[in-house]
Amino acid sequence: MSTFEPVLSKYFAQPNAWTLAHYRSRGGYYGYETAKKAISSLEPKAIIEDVKKSNLRGRGGAGFPAGMKWSFLPENGKPRYLAVNADESEPGTFKDREIMAKDPHGLIEAIIITCWAIRSHHAYIFIRGEFVREAKRMQAAIDECYREGILGDDVLGLGKFKLDITVITGAGAYICGEETGLLSAAEGQRAYPKIKPPFPAVEGYFRQPTIINNVETIACVLHIVARGWEWFKKIGPESGPGPKLFCISGHVKKPGLYEAPLGTTLRQLIYDYAGGPIGEIKGIIPGGSSMPIMTVDQIDTPADFDSIRAAGSFLGSAGLIVFNKDTCIVNALLNLARFYHHESCGQCTPCREGLGWLEKLCHRLEFGHGKEGDVDLMNEVSVMIKGRTICFLADSLIMPVQSYIQKFREEFEYHIKHKRCMTGTKAGEFAQVDELVGAGR
Ligand code: SF4
Repeated sequence: MSTFEPVLSKYFAQPNAWTLAHYRSRGGYYGYETAKKAISSLEPKAIIEDVKKSNLRGRGGAGFPAGMKWSFLPENGKPRYLAVNADESEPGTFKDREIMAKDPHGLIEAIIITCWAIRSHHAYIFIRGEFVREAKRMQAAIDECYREGILGDDVLGLGKFKLDITVITGAGAYICGEETGLLSAAEGQRAYPKIKPPFPAVEGYFRQPTIINNVETIACVLHIVARGWEWFKKIGPESGPGPKLFCISGHVKKPGLYEAPLGTTLRQLIYDYAGGPIGEIKGIIPGGSSMPIMTVDQIDTPADFDSIRAAGSFLGSAGLIVFNKDTCIVNALLNLARFYHHESCGQCTPCREGLGWLEKLCHRLEFGHGKEGDVDLMNEVSVMIKGRTICFLADSLIMPVQSYIQKFREEFEYHIKHKRCMTGTKAGEFAQVDELVGAGR
């Protein structure tokens, strides 16, 4: 285990860590001093430069450099907004909800600094509808801040800056986590993603310039300002450094949320943090369920943006899911196909229809009705869908389909030939419960 000291999750385990009293009592309440320092002594442009120099990359999935995104805001005199993406809809991901539930004041302070930097006077936190506890905690923390003069017409009583923060809860659709889908939902419309450009930084919330950042990305800003971009850049690889919350689930002995430096290897995360695998590892999804699967021979890959990409997958939201040898790959893919097909908003034909075809193909393989040529057909359908849709939801299924077939093709063929799974279960055995659950749709 490394000697790395967590910063993002440092107070998660402490009782009442979400209250203002606790936040103020932490080591001289340095975070509060950080916002004061930033607003009193740092010009907005200087903070943007520091964030650029830190190489902070987005923690929501795409890994886009945060400082660069902020610098896309046009100088056109229009009001600017910050939208904090707390939709966290990618299966296998459970980090942002923990920040909101256990350290909401740390997030608020990071929002204050970010809004000062981008010269925004209104931030929206878009929270997934199912996160009732998180939304309540966030709202309670915001209310405390208004009562204490931390937010409102005169942020921190410094006479420099006005800021309001509003919580918006979504209805739980996957596409609310997509930038333009989130904005549509925040405006009170259906969460339909839109074609880009224009990008939200130019035309976002009610067609005004809007920066959309993930919760964890914003949370990092506080520590960059508090400890300096040099400190941040020394943690992990220079091209995408920093502390990172890894969500580790599946066949491991201690599933949970772990903070580690970017660049920690998958092996270290699984063995040193999550207590080791349950059984023999078959596959590892490194970044949430939509990412291409990796095999056990890639376990020494450093978990950072560029290394995972070089290994053929993506770090995504760092939702690391471990499959052991007893996992039926066809059944796992059927689960994903069912999920992503269900979440399609229906605007694009390749997504609306194509994901349904893929679900049907997975279903017939899993239930012992697969035909010769079905695996190639799945590949062909996936090729026709990829890159031909408005948003990434369709590709979120295509990447698993193509990688599961590429890495475990023999399992698909075995299902067709033997009407059962290589892991020893009968065809459809694992899918029975899912079938009942999905029957009402
Ligand atoms: Fe909707 Fe799917 Fe098109 Fe995205 S890809 S806009 S979810 S139909």
